[in-house]
Amino acid sequence: ILTVSGLKKSFGALEVLKGVSLSVAEGEIISIIGPSGTGKSTLLRCINYLERPTAGVIAIDGVSVDASRSRRRDVYALRRKAAMVFQNYNLFRNKTALENIMEPMTQVQKVPCGEAREEAERILKVIGLFDKRDVYPAHLSGGQRQRIGIGRAMAVRPRVMLFDEPTSSLDPELVNEVLEVIRQLASEHRMTMLIVTHEMRFAQEISDRVLFMDNGGIALEGTPQEIFGGDNPRVRKFVGSVA
Ligand code: ATP
Ligand code: MG
Repeated sequence: ILTVSGLKKSFGALEVLKGVSLSVAEGEIISIIGPSGTGKSTLLRCINYLERPTAGVIAIDGVSVDASRSRRRDVYALRRKAAMVFQNYNLFRNKTALENIMEPMTQVQKVPCGEAREEAERILKVIGLFDKRDVYPAHLSGGQRQRIGIGRAMAVRPRVMLFDEPTSSLDPELVNEVLEVIRQLASEHRMTMLIVTHEMRFAQEISDRVLFMDNGGIALEGTPQEIFGGDNPRVRKFVGSVA
């Protein structure tokens, strides 16, 4: 459902991605791990065209964009295929939980209000926050806010969800409720997901495949067992450092 071929990205003289290729099947769950500054966030941002790649082709669900001759219409179409969940999701402070989830549907997708409300209520049940539907973000915990952020990403009905360290800004006791929602999206909803994470246990449990990024490329990829149980010294050193 997603293929990336020969993806390169430079910021000025700094080449951050040096030719990344990967392909993801529908329903597959991929974790991306690796040291800080190796281009994990940049990879996700390029996939969603929040960053314009220097070279390479991104294709999601039949929409293909080549960086060397991208057309604006194709970029918009591509962006609609994926949704990104950021480290720190910015919710609208003056909107309730329900309204925050309705917003991408009514504003971006022009879904009629009643329909958007029904869908938002369904999503609130999935993320376990139906009882908080009329509450404003200020009265939600960090974990609950992040779950609403996931709900907003779901609201655009993406074919692929991109998570950039969705739990790294949370207090330790709030991490699990967010990971649990992601687990549920994987197991019950068969959502295709790319997850950049430092939660090694989680990555091991949830992923079909793990990519280890280093120096702007995919240094190693394999099943969780191959990656975490293997004897690659770079991976072992990295896993040891975050465990
Ligand atoms: P972390 O684990 O710390 O989140 P990362 O693997 O996500 O790291 P990126 O955020 O992709 O790393 O950054 C890769 C490199 O690109 C870094 O050297 C960073 O400074 C640089 N970089 C990222 N975004 C920009 C930008 N907008 N302008 C200039 N340099 C950037
Ligand atoms: Mg990052």
